[in-house]
Amino acid sequence: MEMIKAKNIYKSFGELEVLSGVSFNVNQGEAISIIGPSGSGKSTLLRSLIGLEEINSGELYIEGISIKESGKKAYEKMGMVFQGFNLFPHKTVLENLIEAPVVVKGEKKAEAQAKAEELLKKVGLSDKVDSYPAQLSGGQKQRVAIARALAMEPDIMLFDEPTSSLDPELVGEVLTVIRDLAEENITMLIVTHEMGFARDVSDRVFFMDHGKIISDTVPEKIFVNPESERIKSFLTKIL
Ligand code: ADP
Ligand code: MG
Repeated sequence: MEMIKAKNIYKSFGELEVLSGVSFNVNQGEAISIIGPSGSGKSTLLRSLIGLEEINSGELYIEGISIKESGKKAYEKMGMVFQGFNLFPHKTVLENLIEAPVVVKGEKKAEAQAKAEELLKKVGLSDKVDSYPAQLSGGQKQRVAIARALAMEPDIMLFDEPTSSLDPELVGEVLTVIRDLAEENITMLIVTHEMGFARDVSDRVFFMDHGKIISDTVPEKIFVNPESERIKSFLTKIL
């Protein structure tokens, strides 16, 4: 099944055109890495998919239904993890996880709590249920953020540089969690600068430059034999 279909998406901020005709599709269970230089529109693309930015033109279908028809409902099918964690600072880990399921989905608290505990086990943080975000390391915070997104049972997970604000020694624990999700066949779009990870985990890699996807191919192709000088020079700089 086609989980996401984007057709000729345009997005500007004032005079600045940030997405300049982006088209792609993502099938159920695919893990897609999005790479490319800073300012190329990667975050804006993810934010547009989940409705945090309004696109100027183009068509966007989530699970086969145009967002023009489904409206907000489409966004409930997606979870997003940001570079800066975005946890609720005054809530415990458990409270962070049950907030949206209870408030947005109307789940019973006990039910949401049981699910939250299961998810915390999955990301290796069972012992942190009652901790506050400030008491956690960056890697732990990001694992909580992932568990929190999963608590809404999304069909699609969007990650925007989930390890970019972490100390190098904490990157691995977060990538491991994402890698496990990839194996569970959750559909994922991951903006990342971790090229080894992108190569291992992704079914396809999108390379973005100046608001366009200039390459949409399998990782072997882009990393071993990049098709353009632009991609080659980017990879040389980053690796
Ligand atoms: P990337 O994630 O690839 O680094 P972004 O999507 O964050 O790129 O940004 C693309 C361009 O859009 C950049 O030039 C950025 O400064 C600009 N931009 C992003 N968000 C906004 C905004 N809310 N208002 C104005 N300009 C923005
Ligand atoms: Mg970005």
